[in-house]
Order: sequence, then structure tokens, then C-alpha cells
Amino acid sequence: MYETIIIGGGPAAVAAGVYAARKQIKTALFAQQIGGQSVVSDSIENWIGEEVISGPELAIKLKKHLESQKDSIDLFVGVNVDVVNKNEDGTFEVVAGDEKYQTKTVIVCSGGRHRRLGVPGEAEFEGKGVAFCATCDAPFYRDKDVAVVGGGNSGLEAVMDLLAYVNKVYVIARKPEGGLRGDPITQEEVLSSDKVEVIYESNASAVIGETMVTGLKYKKNDSDEEHEVAVSGVFVEIGSVPNSELVSEFTDTDDWNNIEVDFKTQETSCPGIFAAGDVTNAIYRQNNIAVGDAIKALLSAHEYIKKEIGDGE
Ligand SMILES: Cc1cc2nc3c(=O)[nH]c(=O)nc-3n(C[C@H](O)[C@H](O)[C@H](O)COP(=O)(O)OP(=O)(O)OC[C@H]3O[C@@H](n4cnc5c(N)ncnc54)[C@H](O)[C@@H]3O)c2cc1C
Repeated sequence: MYETIIIGGGPAAVAAGVYAARKQIKTALFAQQIGGQSVVSDSIENWIGEEVISGPELAIKLKKHLESQKDSIDLFVGVNVDVVNKNEDGTFEVVAGDEKYQTKTVIVCSGGRHRRLGVPGEAEFEGKGVAFCATCDAPFYRDKDVAVVGGGNSGLEAVMDLLAYVNKVYVIARKPEGGLRGDPITQEEVLSSDKVEVIYESNASAVIGETMVTGLKYKKNDSDEEHEVAVSGVFVEIGSVPNSELVSEFTDTDDWNNIEVDFKTQETSCPGIFAAGDVTNAIYRQNNIAVGDAIKALLSAHEYIKKEIGDGE
């Protein structure tokens, strides 16, 4: 019986793992991989303590810090948690592949994943012109025409990444002219570029191609008529969805499936389950915030173990 099982491999999970080791709580941590979402970033300039660090460098540092605690916690890196079950006595069963682990508490730090368009061709051409990371894939589109779907902050950031390489970027934005989101400086840079054409009040309706993407179809918000732009790449930047499915059956979630937490303690509506980082209804999605919230979650789990369950055996 573990005292806590941490699920995730981003900054939140790593912070919870390091604090669990310091508290000498009997802990297991399961992570598909270590690093989190910003691993794809070339330059992170707000990770406190580093003026600038790349995503891969940050991932290496997180991994090293976590591994330095491996005498105190069990690390299952490269292992996906498939199911979390609630036991009748208030403890939990965590299932990973064929193995089952028992635990008094769970700290969910499973973060988020890209939201998908859900249109024909998107899945078929993933990796063949449909991309979810402009920072990673922009160099493959040198001198090509591409489309970015999404007029929010991440969409505009993607355009900025692409401008250095591509010939032209079509931005498919739902909002009317003047309604792009994103910080003003980025908006100004995007809108002033003669390589950018924003197609307002529109939704992507299909990705087309043969072996590789050749175009994107879209519809205006108020019409069923399909239009088309000829592009070699389609970058999908319409936000993220939380990886909350593991526990959403027994924790409250908001309208977007984020796990609702008490912001003082990171407790969920299910006693014994705590959550932190991008999987929660936290207002701000940032590395440093994920770390701070995860530390709160771990300390709260520690209190819970002492108060609610005692030594448990
Ligand atoms: C391109 C990009 C750039 C960014 N740049 C910045 C930046 O410059 N500064 C900043 O502060 N923030 C930045 N962010 C936001 C930041 O990355 C997130 O806020 C942060 O990663 C959230 O951390 P997390 O630990 O909650 O979740 P995540 O980083 O999403 O990590 C979750 C981890 O859990 C693992 N996991 C999920 N489900 C399971 C499971 N069932 N079993 C095992 N493991 C599982 C995943 O593989 C993943 O490694 C950026 C985000 C993106 C997408």
C-alpha cells in the first residue's frame, strides 16, 4: 500500500515527487515521460531561476532532480496509468498495464493535450502535413504556404514561429475582424506581416490531400458553403483539453472537464484525490504555477494521510 501515487511527468508531478521524497511518504510516480508540454519550446523565459532555458533542457533538469530522489520514491517512467478505481475503504487502486497498485491518496498531475478539430482528414494526415507544434515543425515548411487554425494566443504564437520559414500563413479564426485574442504585441506583429492572411469568422471543415496535405477546407460561420486554401501544412492551435478522464467519474469537473480543486489545498471533491497543474480548473496555465499547486497538493495529501487514515494498517 502506497501512501500516495502521483500520476504525470510534467513540472507538477516532478514537484510533487520531490516533495514526497522530502516528506518520506511512501510514494510511486507514474509518467509517460518527463518534461511536460513546454518540452517543445525553444525558449522558456519565465521559469524562475533561469533567465532562459529550452524545453528539452528543462525536461532534463526535471528528470535529474526527480531521479536524485529515487531512493525515496518508486519511479515508473514510461508507464501509463490506464485506470484509477476507488476502493470501498476510501483507498484507491491504480492500474497500469497488467499491474495493480494500492494507495491511500492519488495526486493527479496528468496535464493537458491538444484539442483536435475533429474534421475529416485531420487524423489521416497527422504527421503528413497536420501538425500540433509550430515550434517543432516550422522548419519543415520552408517557403511553403500553410494554415494555422485558431486565432487565440497559441494560434498567434504559432504564426510567429512559422513566419521565419514559410511563404504564406492563412489564419482561420472564428472571431470577426478585431476579435483576435492573444497579447497585443503578438497581434500587431502578426497582422502587420504581409505573409499573413487572416480569414475571419470561419471554421476549418476538412483537411485534404493525397499522400500529404494539399489543402484546407473551411466554412464561414454563417454559411454551409465550403471554401479552400491550397496549403502544405495545417497547424491546429485551438487550445487544450485536460487529461482528467482517469478520475472524472468520482471528482467534480467544470464544463471543460477540468478537475475542480480547492485552491487552498488542491483537494478535489473526492477525499484522498488531489490534483494540480493544467488538469485542474486553475485559471493560469504555467509551469511555475503547476509546480506551486503540486507542492500544495502533496503537502495536503500528507496532512490527509496523517489525519484521515492514521497509519492505515
Ligand atoms: C508549446 C507550449 C509552450 C509553453 N511555454 C510555456 C512557457 O514558456 N512558460 C510557462 O510557464 N508555461 C508554458 N507552457 C505551459 C506549461 O507547459 C504548462 O502549464 C505545464 O506544462 C503544466 O504542467 P503539468 O505538470 O500540469 O502538465 P503537463 O505539462 O501537461 O504534463 C503532464 C504529464 O503527464 C503525463 N501523463 C498524462 N496522463 C498520464 C497517464 N495516464 N499516465 C502517466 N502519465 C501521464 C503526460 O505524458 C505529461 O508528461 C507552454 C505550453 C505549451 C503547449
